[in-house]
Amino acid sequence: MTEPTAPFSARLGRVRARLDELGVDALLVSVGPDLPWLTGYEAMPLERLTMAVVTRRGDCALVVPALEAPRVVRREHFEVVPWGESDDPIALVADRVAGAGRIAFGDRTWARFLIEIQDRLPGATFVRSNEVTGPLRAVKDDHEIAMLRRAGAAVDGIAADLQSGAIALVGRTEAEVSAELGRRIVDAGHHRVNFAIVAAGANAASPHHEAGGRVIGDDEVVLCDFGGTMFDEWGVGYCSDITRCVWTGEIPADVAAIYGVLHEAQAAGVAAGRVGVRCEDVDRACRDVIDAAGYGEFFIHRTGHGIGVEEHEDPYMVTGNTTVLAEGHCYSVEPGIYLPGRLGFRLEDIVIATADGPSPANHADHALAALS
Ligand code: ZN
Ligand code: ZN
Ligand code: ZN
Repeated sequence: MTEPTAPFSARLGRVRARLDELGVDALLVSVGPDLPWLTGYEAMPLERLTMAVVTRRGDCALVVPALEAPRVVRREHFEVVPWGESDDPIALVADRVAGAGRIAFGDRTWARFLIEIQDRLPGATFVRSNEVTGPLRAVKDDHEIAMLRRAGAAVDGIAADLQSGAIALVGRTEAEVSAELGRRIVDAGHHRVNFAIVAAGANAASPHHEAGGRVIGDDEVVLCDFGGTMFDEWGVGYCSDITRCVWTGEIPADVAAIYGVLHEAQAAGVAAGRVGVRCEDVDRACRDVIDAAGYGEFFIHRTGHGIGVEEHEDPYMVTGNTTVLAEGHCYSVEPGIYLPGRLGFRLEDIVIATADGPSPANHADHALAALS
């Protein structure tokens, strides 16, 4: 077997081509997902500056606090530039991009660093790094797709345990169940937990409900939406994200009918995701089903988001996004119906756009599981 090659030099090449295309002279990224995607190194969220400096031509540098430098795995396409406690890291970065007219700056990089660098480079204009990296990161290569499938399979297993009753619900608080989901996310091979929403009964009508002290009872919905980040062999993390609902008792007919609408909508959204359609068409496909059943006003968010090194990234499945789906786009399809004061349902899978059609990365059962 041949050693797989690290993906970073290919990514750097794509970034440079995009800088040329956009007429941007340099890319500066720090805390956030662009940096590990480009270098395999994740910056500690510290007051000390870590920053990758990518110019259209010439060397690329990873400016890093000297005390963090031992954590950096050396890559041939990056020069590691450590700075000591009495050095001026802003000057180190500014000197490397002196004369640049347009600079793309990390979306997630702290404002203090942007302000300090702007002060040193009064002639430069700044754009968001997402303009450069967003469309590149959105199209996954085979390795990245394999990672997203691996992360998806890991949370599928947890969803199956929820649906079979292997994870106890009734009598526990939402927070207790959320903590258990978190432990299982890590046990299933993730490096970290990103979120574990557990919402019972009327709380499920709030899409991002914070799991709290409410005790789960009989005959109600429990909505669970959870995911984590799984690292590949180069230290780049890929995210999982799944939502399943269970019912703690026998499902009443009216509840089954509402869930049936949601299930049909989610299937329509998945099926709509063919290469060549617009992202907003995926949203439309879900929304049409829910609208037709009379629940349109209760589907209060977009249908989905791209997923990769970031939990939410391009492309977004939302009205107005005319981005055309391409092979390698990975995104969620997660319609919901939220009835205030009563209940909420959401059903979410990650889907990969392929030449042969939409290919889900999640395979946990779609039915509303009845637990009694
Ligand atoms: Zn989710
Ligand atoms: Zn999601
Ligand atoms: Zn289904």
